[in-house]
Amino acid sequence: MKEAATMGKINSEWHREHRMPANATRAQRAAWHYEHAQHCGCRVLTPSITSLLVSEGYEIPRRTSEAAASD
Ligand SMILES: [Zn+2]
Repeated sequence: MKEAATMGKINSEWHREHRMPANATRAQRAAWHYEHAQHCGCRVLTPSITSLLVSEGYEIPRRTSEAAASD
């Protein structure tokens, strides 16, 4: 059993506490995706999300698997 390292699992508790506003601005969406990437693995960071984060001044959160692969 090594479930602790598994990515791609939804953090339903986080989602319950972090609802995306219906008419979210770019800044709100960027903030949401930035937090989301660090607390939940239910979605991959698509190119459109990463470019949104960059344009709003965020650093792109690294997934553990990608960080390991790039070294
Ligand atoms: Zn999620």
